[in-house]
Amino acid sequence: MKAAVLSEVGGRLVIEDIPQPRPKAGEVLVKVTACGVCHTDLHVMKGEVKFPLPCVLGHEISGVVEEVGPEVQTTRTGQNVVCSFIMPCGVCSYCVQGRDDLCETFFALNRLQGTLYDGESRLSRSDGSTLAMYSMGGLAEYAVVPASDVFPAPANVSLTDACILGCAMMTAYGAVKNQARIQPSDSVAVVGAGGVGSNVVQVAKAFGAGQIIAIDVRDDKLAAAQALGATHTVNASQEEPVAAVNNATNGQGVAVAIEALGRPETVVNAFMMTRDGGRVVVIGIAPGTTTAGIEITRLVRRGIQLMGSYGSRVRTDLPEVLALAAQGQVNVSQPITRRYRLEQADEAYAALNRGEIIGRAIVSMV
Ligand SMILES: [Zn+2]
Ligand SMILES: [Zn+2]
Repeated sequence: MKAAVLSEVGGRLVIEDIPQPRPKAGEVLVKVTACGVCHTDLHVMKGEVKFPLPCVLGHEISGVVEEVGPEVQTTRTGQNVVCSFIMPCGVCSYCVQGRDDLCETFFALNRLQGTLYDGESRLSRSDGSTLAMYSMGGLAEYAVVPASDVFPAPANVSLTDACILGCAMMTAYGAVKNQARIQPSDSVAVVGAGGVGSNVVQVAKAFGAGQIIAIDVRDDKLAAAQALGATHTVNASQEEPVAAVNNATNGQGVAVAIEALGRPETVVNAFMMTRDGGRVVVIGIAPGTTTAGIEITRLVRRGIQLMGSYGSRVRTDLPEVLALAAQGQVNVSQPITRRYRLEQADEAYAALNRGEIIGRAIVSMV
């Protein structure tokens, strides 16, 4: 099969012909229809997030079940499916509590070693040398995925476009539901209107948020966020964003600020634009050990809750995300503005790195 392989930090994604993988017990082989183009892959390509190389990136996929491994009863051959980047092991102490977002096995074996849960990758080159798997290694024609991460694709949604549900939309959903706990009429600021931020706008709207203030430095991204439900926009290259949010909220600040960039200045801005008793949810991943300076007394005296949110609780949340998509409460196709073929995968990430992608780009295998 064809796969996009990253061999070195700073290198290009090169299409290679590698053996088609096979699922083991508890796993499913998916013929990949499409894979979303996400900033986290780019962090690995640039060496900002450490990961074993050579590897196959790509971690939000849609596709069709090609083969079901032993002991899998939850899906069948031919089913259209969506898979998330967090592949819950189902048995660690966090998974048992339903905290799939903190799955220890996923972090220890997949994110640190690039393997599935028997400690081995399913991917290799023809010479037998191992290729690490970032999540399922979705930038390929086929991917092996633990059955716990294989969900029926929503009806009425293009199977190609449904790939973004597994990271961009699910991350937005986890932040809005579990951490921000957005209630009807809450005012919300979304800092960074990119692939995840634009979906935060949609999910916040689906949860009944009142004001939804999208903040970015590009007017085209802000216009796209407005089309998805933002009630206000702030171009932070032209206006001081904290003052602009205060103006828009009668000097109070927002009930919830969701930061989707992972940058020190935007984390601080999100904190400063949140009203007393409000919640700041950070979902942007930052390179290495980047820090942000938070005013301690403001945090304490104003009772602000500052928290992180990583993906979501896959086995409970992803079915809810799929239902929202099936009901049309979130639009899966509208955020997708660029479509690439697998051969163009490197080009897709180069465009993402230049900040050019409005919403989400995807790579189609078919
Ligand atoms: Zn992602
Ligand atoms: Zn687990």
